[in-house]
Amino acid sequence: MSAVKPSPISASVDFERDGVQHGFLKLPYSRDEAAWGAVMIPITVIRNGHGPTALLTGGNHGDEYEGPVALTKLAATLAAEDVRGRVIVLPFMNYPAFRAGTRTSPIDRGNLNRSFPGKPDGTVTEKIADYVERHLLPLADFVLDIHSGGKTLDFLPFAAIHVLDDKDQESRCEAAMQAFNAPYSMRLLELDSVGMFDTAAESAGKVFVSTELGGGGSATAKSIAIADRGVRQFLVHAGICDGRIERRETVVLDMPDSDCYVTSLHDGLLEMCHDLGARVDKDEVIARVHDVTRSGEAPIEYRARRSGILAARHFPGLIGRGDTLAVVAEIVG
Ligand SMILES: [Zn+2]
Repeated sequence: MSAVKPSPISASVDFERDGVQHGFLKLPYSRDEAAWGAVMIPITVIRNGHGPTALLTGGNHGDEYEGPVALTKLAATLAAEDVRGRVIVLPFMNYPAFRAGTRTSPIDRGNLNRSFPGKPDGTVTEKIADYVERHLLPLADFVLDIHSGGKTLDFLPFAAIHVLDDKDQESRCEAAMQAFNAPYSMRLLELDSVGMFDTAAESAGKVFVSTELGGGGSATAKSIAIADRGVRQFLVHAGICDGRIERRETVVLDMPDSDCYVTSLHDGLLEMCHDLGARVDKDEVIARVHDVTRSGEAPIEYRARRSGILAARHFPGLIGRGDTLAVVAEIVG
C-alpha cells in the first residue's frame, strides 16, 4: 500500500492558538474563471487553554439552513473567555453546495454526507470529506452536525443519535442529545450509513449528535431558536461553556425498522392527509397521489405501515416514483 497523500486543503487558522480566529479552509480548485483559484470554506476557531474540543458543523447539505444560521451567529459572538477548551465552527461544510443552495455540490454533484472518508486526490467534495476526517475529527471530543430536510423533505424538529455497538459511547451520545434538548429526540436506525459523516465520527469514538430541525429549503424563527439553544446547551454539556442546561419536555422517538418509511410508487400531485406531528394508526391513509396526466382518475392512497407519529414528509407539491413520501416514527416516551 502506498502512503496516504497529504490533503491539498490548508487552514488559515492555527488550531492550537488561544483566542478567536476567523479564517478559511483553502481548497485549490482550478477552473475556467480562476486558473489558480480556490474554494474558500469559512472556519472559526475559539480556543482558551486546555479542555475538550467541540466540532460544530452546518451546511453538510447545502439547502439546510438552521445550522448555517445558528453557527454563523455563534462564530460572530462566542468570545474566548466564554470557552474552556476549543470550539471549531464550520457553518457551511460543503461550501460549494451551500452557495448554490443545493443538497449536493454543483462542482461534482458530490453528496458530502455520502463521501466519507473521502480522498485527498478525489473530487472537491471528497477532498472536503478527507480533510474533515483526517484533520478536524481527530481534534474533536464532541461533534454536532446540524441538518434539516432541505428542499425536498420537512421534519419534526429532532436531535438524533444512532444505535451503536459500543453501548457506553451510545449512552454518551444520548446524554449529549438530551442536552441539545430539541422538542423531539430520535434514535435512528440508518438504512444507508456508508459514507456518512455520522459514521466517520462514531467510528472514531466521538460523542456525536445530529439533527433534523425542519426543512423545505428554508428555516423558521422557531427552528432557528431550537438550533441556537441546542448548540449552547451542547457546549455546556461538553464542559466547554458555563451555563445551565434547561430541560424542556422532549418526545422520544424511535425508527426501529424500514416499516417507518413510506415510499411513493407513483409520479403525481401529493395530497397529505395529515401534518407533521399527527398521530397515525397502522393502515390509515396518510396521503394521496393524484394523476397529473388526466382528470377524472381516482387518486392512489398511501397508508401508514405502522402506528406512530408523522415525523417527516415529502415537501414539494409534486412527488416522483421512489421518493420518500413520509416517515412514521414510533413514540417511545
Ligand atoms: Zn442533511
